[in-house]
Amino acid sequence: MFYLDGTATTKPYPSVIKAMVNAMENHFGNPSSLHMLGRDAEEILKAARECLAKDLNVKPKEIIFTSGGTESNNLAILGSIRHKNQIFVTDKAEHASVTECAKYLESKGVQVCYLDIDEAGHPHLDQFENILKLKPDLVSLMQVNNEIGTCLDIEKITDRLKQISPKTLLHVDGVQAYGKFDLDLSREGIDLYSLSGHKVHGPKGIGALYIKEGVKIQPILFGGGQEKGFRPGTENSYALAGFTEAVRVNRGERKRDFEKVLHCREQLKGSLSDLEGVKFLGSEEFFSPYILSIAFQGIKSEILLHYLEREGIFVSTGSACSKGKISSVIQTLKLPKDYMDGMLRISLSPDYDEKDMDFVGQKIKCAVQEIRQIIGGKV
Ligand code: PMP
Repeated sequence: MFYLDGTATTKPYPSVIKAMVNAMENHFGNPSSLHMLGRDAEEILKAARECLAKDLNVKPKEIIFTSGGTESNNLAILGSIRHKNQIFVTDKAEHASVTECAKYLESKGVQVCYLDIDEAGHPHLDQFENILKLKPDLVSLMQVNNEIGTCLDIEKITDRLKQISPKTLLHVDGVQAYGKFDLDLSREGIDLYSLSGHKVHGPKGIGALYIKEGVKIQPILFGGGQEKGFRPGTENSYALAGFTEAVRVNRGERKRDFEKVLHCREQLKGSLSDLEGVKFLGSEEFFSPYILSIAFQGIKSEILLHYLEREGIFVSTGSACSKGKISSVIQTLKLPKDYMDGMLRISLSPDYDEKDMDFVGQKIKCAVQEIRQIIGGKV
């Protein structure tokens, strides 16, 4: 089997599963309980916070654990924008957990500015500079685009912010970047940063929001006051035990995995490049090697996905055609019409090598040619 859908979710490391089972069997107390079992469970939280903070080079008190990337994005945005007279800036290629917040804020009368993206998937900088003159309250952009893998040039963004509107808060959705790229949040000029456990071989249902010391946001959930009141509700200590282990293992493997995946991506690209009617999407310059998005002319990607599934190759159509709708990212890329339905997102994984990618490339080629023959497509 070739599991090439790690952008959707990654397989937990075996030691993550062990850590979770151990927490469930032996450390099941409620971290808020005053007795020994509570203190025992609280230790899991403390270790998780310290481990993640060390990895991001921030202070443990700057980490709030959440249920995942969606909640972290909601907390960052809705917790920062509380009044009608505030201004929120994002772009047209964000994850639904950001765009739906933007729509909600618009419905409440907040001014929301959507930056256009260029054909590589980057937000337009000149437009950004102009919008910054309005002195917005919050900018939210993703570090790695989950559909096409384009990376944000954080340095350029923070540079413009510092120059034009230094009081504007910057939120970065790092869900597809965390665990892949080295990141020193203490130096990046980022105020709020979202990440998710299940994208880094940890469990689902756990994530975090980094809130830089001194940045004031409001809670969006109310209850027992856990996580400094930002995330009330009994903490998911089992998932946190697994997440800590995922962070620990991932940190050790990060550089090696990145290099391996980069080579695999090049190999796969190379093996597909002699196929006609193929477009590789995203940036050639700033990209995550973990994502290769390809548009095939005259192909319905759902059919291709199922062809590949029969061969034991698991990929994604991206969010491109969800419920029959072409995603706003793909629309913005201005692909020719006959490529729009044929987008495949292949998530590269360090579990495979270049030979494997050559094999996968050959299988994709055969499947594309066969489908085109059946539908009589002219390519
Ligand atoms: N942002 C991005 C860029 C994502 O790719 C995802 C997950 N697909 C999310 C946010 C949401 O993360 P989660 O699944 O942990 O809620």
